[in-house]
Amino acid sequence: MAESKYLVPMSSPEIDESDRQAVLDVLRTTSLSIGPRVVEFEKSICAYSGARHAIAVNSGTSGLHLCMRAAGIQPGDLVLTTPFSFVSSTNVILYDNAIPVFVDVDPASGNMDVKKLAEAAADLTSGDPARMRKWLPRKGAEAHGKLRAILAVDVFGQPANYDAIRKVADQYNLKLIEDSCEALGAEYKGRRAGLFGDYGVFAFYPNKQITTGEGGIIVTNDDQAAEYMASLRNQGRAQGDTWLQHTHLGYNYRLDEMSSALGVSQMSRIDALIDRRNRVAQLYNRRLAAIPAIELPYVGPETTRMSWFVYVIRAKAPLQRDRFAAALEAEGIPVRPYFLPIHLQPYIADKFGYREGDFPVTEDLGRRGLALPFSSCMTEDQVALVCEKIEKCAAG
Ligand SMILES: *Cc1c(COP(=O)(O)O)cnc(C)c1O
Repeated sequence: MAESKYLVPMSSPEIDESDRQAVLDVLRTTSLSIGPRVVEFEKSICAYSGARHAIAVNSGTSGLHLCMRAAGIQPGDLVLTTPFSFVSSTNVILYDNAIPVFVDVDPASGNMDVKKLAEAAADLTSGDPARMRKWLPRKGAEAHGKLRAILAVDVFGQPANYDAIRKVADQYNLKLIEDSCEALGAEYKGRRAGLFGDYGVFAFYPNKQITTGEGGIIVTNDDQAAEYMASLRNQGRAQGDTWLQHTHLGYNYRLDEMSSALGVSQMSRIDALIDRRNRVAQLYNRRLAAIPAIELPYVGPETTRMSWFVYVIRAKAPLQRDRFAAALEAEGIPVRPYFLPIHLQPYIADKFGYREGDFPVTEDLGRRGLALPFSSCMTEDQVALVCEKIEKCAAG
């Protein structure tokens, strides 16, 4: 294998000896799935988030999909969501042939613009075809059903504006799903992310705040929905069903015991992991503040605790993001454009007829955003090296 051309990694999980030991311990048992570790992991997430129920699954995407099912989303139903996210949050709406209705984002935070969200909900429930058309895609929504839900995303580890979003959800009787896959540990007005909606999801891919390799978890205070989602995760076996009895059409979305054990071990250090990520973000903030060609990440006043998932800067004209990114890569610094707008992903643009210009704020952020190397393991020297190269490349 060729040696990495990079001087620092883009991201890296923080795995220690106790993590390795926890996984090895599972491999010395005969219980590699549906065992005690997954229950323990769910309990630790309940304790941390304050949720009554946690349902561990094999990815954040699987978790969001089960939330769609629990929300009763049917083919043709409309779901309000953001085009500025990881593609997973829109894909789960499409899995059941529902229709994502995009609402552009706030230019500072990148989270859903709540004024636009309120307008969209009012228009889409007005029964007036002209008002509805303002929000519906050009094609692919001819046979649409009713507006049923909001799927909000806590982008980059910062909670969306839930006071306003909750109000819209309540006013129009919509289910609210919180994609908190980037925001484990974040706080909005002193309350932890994950429980602002009817159901919330955290994810554990290796670049997230904690990792299980692959994995995710749903949190909810809704007893009935929790039981239903736990059943769907396990091939639709309801409580009381035997192994080959299936009450519902389900999936295999189970999280195995090795992954769960890693999750338990990682959760025992969650505060330290988030603190170290915060420290890296503050080091970047301090060093990069003096560079006029870039904008630093925005943290809003309602965000009483940021749980840094990625550190994304924005190129300011005349500095051009793609040229800047190429220069950094040539200097051995890995960077990623972040996010690319969902409505312009080829299969989505194709299906719904979206074009450039449809969501201008999302597109502007998509053209200017650049994720820098980031993890809890980054040293001060590594941050300094990245910043030195940024200073060099932003000047030239
Ligand atoms: C990570 C992430 C997910 C889930 O990703 P998986 O790879 O399926 O675990 C969902 N939404 C957002 C916004 C994410 O960042």
